[in-house]
Amino acid sequence: MHSNKNLPRRDFLSAGVSAACVASVAQAGYFSGVPSRDASKKLGVALVGLGSLSTNQIAPALQKTANCRLSAIVTGTPDKEKKWADKYGINSGSIYNYENFDKIASDENVDIVYIVLPNSMHHEFTIRAAKAGKHVLCEKPMANSSKECREMIAACEAANKQLAIGYRCQFTSHHLSLQTAVKGKAIGDLKMIEAGFGFRIGDPNQWRLKKALAGGGALMDVGIYALQACRFLTGNEPISIMAQETKTDAAKFAEVDESITWMMKFPSGIDAYCSTSYNFNGLNKVIAYGSNGLAKMDPAYSYSDLQLEINGKKVDLPQQDHFAAELDDFATCIRENRPSKVSGKEGLRDLLAIEAIYQSIDKRTSIDVQKA
Ligand code: NAD
Repeated sequence: MHSNKNLPRRDFLSAGVSAACVASVAQAGYFSGVPSRDASKKLGVALVGLGSLSTNQIAPALQKTANCRLSAIVTGTPDKEKKWADKYGINSGSIYNYENFDKIASDENVDIVYIVLPNSMHHEFTIRAAKAGKHVLCEKPMANSSKECREMIAACEAANKQLAIGYRCQFTSHHLSLQTAVKGKAIGDLKMIEAGFGFRIGDPNQWRLKKALAGGGALMDVGIYALQACRFLTGNEPISIMAQETKTDAAKFAEVDESITWMMKFPSGIDAYCSTSYNFNGLNKVIAYGSNGLAKMDPAYSYSDLQLEINGKKVDLPQQDHFAAELDDFATCIRENRPSKVSGKEGLRDLLAIEAIYQSIDKRTSIDVQKA
């Protein structure tokens, strides 16, 4: 068994080893990229990009995780280095900038690189992290195009490292309970979904409004949550999409979309009606309509205070730290060498749907969604 230690799982299985044996070996960390490591040890996470999300959500979440610890930082702002090192006890040898980032390859403190940069930088840093021999957790949207997503998946596969996308909602008890209720026909047969997420964006000079950095506007940033929720609930991929865009401030939204509504057809016959906007607050919902009732989340995508109601009754569920749950799940997947349910392919599927939405707007017609 020892000699099979470095074989990819596929080859290992075809070498005639039983599934039970694989489970026990995976448990011991043989496929995890951290061979022989004490399974009780927390995996080290390097945060790349110390902006708002890293500062206010991810670093605090890392203090609550069971399986991860903040062990390194990567920043382009020298002022942040000492502040973060002091606050989180990071070794001076585990502080990087965007230029010397590749040296992380020899940093034994780092198992996972978590990319929290503007969208256009996800592709480059995922590939560099994979080449440095690290597992990658990359924020949503995975990249600015499906082509980039495919290259990121290929780079992680070539390095035999795991890739997951920061779809935190898939780890919340509210979204999971909604999915279970719909699957278990608590509302009868699922007939239709309505989903939307938006907010009023401030500073007109921020990267989110620049196409080269953001890839798109409201759709890429927050509409993706509504899209995810529909795919998560149906368990299917949309086959075709029809979309329209509204722009009320041509100067502010010169480069990216302001508001989009779109309709997705699923192979089971379900239609989903979705919307996103950078123009107003309060749109934050998913509603599943069934033959016998409805299930609703509103707010559905906030960091806290999610609300779930099924057939008019509020469901009481604990509020969780979404990022801690997402990080702990990824660490477990790495240890057990099984792909994350929010793998790179999941990110690619969203980008394929997003590309169909933008094409539908451009061509003013319904667009078939490409397969991943
Ligand atoms: P932010 O603007 O607050 O932080 C971006 C960081 O990238 C900053 O530290 C900035 O210095 C750095 N950076 C490096 N090069 C840059 C450049 N050329 N232009 C601008 N900044 C540059 O953004 P954020 O809100 O932290 O978002 C980062 C990523 O996280 C995005 O991909 C976003 O979609 C994602 N995000 C996810 C969630 C979620 O709930 N999962 C929430 C917010 C943001």
